[in-house]
Amino acid sequence: MRQCLWVALFCAPAAVASAAPPLFLPFPCGQTKRVTQGHNGGSHTGLGAWAWDFGLGVGDAVVAAAAGRVSRLKMDSTTHCDSSACANDANYVVVDHLDGTQALYLHLQANSAQVTVGDNVAAGDALAAVGLTGWVTGAHLHFQVEQTGSSWWTQSVAVAFEDVGDPDYPAMVTSGNCGPPNPNVVVVDDADPGFTHNTGFFAVANAGGYRTSFQWTYSNGSTVESVGEWRAVLPEHGLYKVEHHIPLSNNATSTRAPFVVHHVGGDLRVTQDQSVTGGFFEELAQVKMAAGTALRVTLADDSGEPLTAAKIGFDAVRFTLLAPAGNTPAGGGCAQDNDCTGALACMGNTCGGTVGGSSSLQSNSSGNGSSATGTSRNSSSAGATTTSTSTSMAASSAAGSGSAAGTSAVSAGASSGSNSGAGTSAAGTTSFGGSSLAGSSAETPATPPEDEVAECSSAHLPGGFPWLGWGAMTWMVLRRGRSRGGHSLPHV
Ligand SMILES: [Zn+2]
Repeated sequence: MRQCLWVALFCAPAAVASAAPPLFLPFPCGQTKRVTQGHNGGSHTGLGAWAWDFGLGVGDAVVAAAAGRVSRLKMDSTTHCDSSACANDANYVVVDHLDGTQALYLHLQANSAQVTVGDNVAAGDALAAVGLTGWVTGAHLHFQVEQTGSSWWTQSVAVAFEDVGDPDYPAMVTSGNCGPPNPNVVVVDDADPGFTHNTGFFAVANAGGYRTSFQWTYSNGSTVESVGEWRAVLPEHGLYKVEHHIPLSNNATSTRAPFVVHHVGGDLRVTQDQSVTGGFFEELAQVKMAAGTALRVTLADDSGEPLTAAKIGFDAVRFTLLAPAGNTPAGGGCAQDNDCTGALACMGNTCGGTVGGSSSLQSNSSGNGSSATGTSRNSSSAGATTTSTSTSMAASSAAGSGSAAGTSAVSAGASSGSNSGAGTSAAGTTSFGGSSLAGSSAETPATPPEDEVAECSSAHLPGGFPWLGWGAMTWMVLRRGRSRGGHSLPHV
């Protein structure tokens, strides 16, 4: 908590320079590690002010955060201690970005280098392993981008990571250092513009989510009060795997978070058990979706769990194109939506429906014979042709020209977007059963978010808790009093 307050009160604002090349976390793709110290606080002062410590253990792999050329390397030390006397005993790799900046990877294991001076490296290339060397009290990786200079220890500069931004202690962060971006994979995180929610109760948790944060609300029985929506810009029509990232947090505890995947053939309701130890993406469904932003994923608080008995996490949704849409002409035979051209859906073995790009978040059902319903974890069906027992809520899919015969009458009073054709309906016209979307996070919580202080958000300090601010001030003075000094030395 002390470190938490330190960071909250004394971190510089997120004024981040862009001098360095695009950076990704300096450990392998997909791994989740804790930020054990942020920048501009604790031992990160002076030349090392703009540094992060990551909770990697001895032997854990360190990879290049960005492309460059290995310019300096030390690998012969096996010494460490909690004193400046050991400052120069740290093993390191320095990668020159050739733009006036270089990256320092510090406290590495002796003789663990997988590169030599002069090697060109790409982001994600293995450099070395973490060790216990230099001025440290425990194994970790110290990473900073600094000015290119005549030493391995120069003035650090303000940067941020492409995959996680500018994380602080005690965030858990997942490396997106995964090579060139795949255009067929689209992620909509809760902090992205593609995620919106209504005016229900939503709280922000500042740790445990994909790219650090996520949002959550309480279970609300079988009544919908709070609804969130993810809408991606998808590259083309086709069969998509749709996944949601389960936060690694006790602020996501629902055993049946009720998602609705709105796809070409209708709406698929599927639940996710978020009570597991999260930190990973879990598949919700494989369904046909249209290009553009016509289709979406929604999550509400009607999990069926008693009022406030569980917390429902809203984190990141990932859409992965598995196969382009089929080429069967309109009116031709089909077995599933993906057998049909473009936005057409497979209804009654005939390609004839159109994209169900409903604009109402209350929609929980759609055309007859084209929805699938899954109500247990991992029960989502492949394809989109499972007949469901559609439980109609407020509105069903919007009408599009060419809706299949037998499709239930559309009663979406809110807005029915133009959904025929190439799925070009724009997001932004959504309504939540009559109440408009809250574009930002300005809302009045119906229930106090009791975990917010523990989440270490600077937004809560010092205004809301002035006494904490004074406590931290006192602590800072005490800490300064026994400061290690020697800020020009590379420390922990
Ligand atoms: Zn450090």
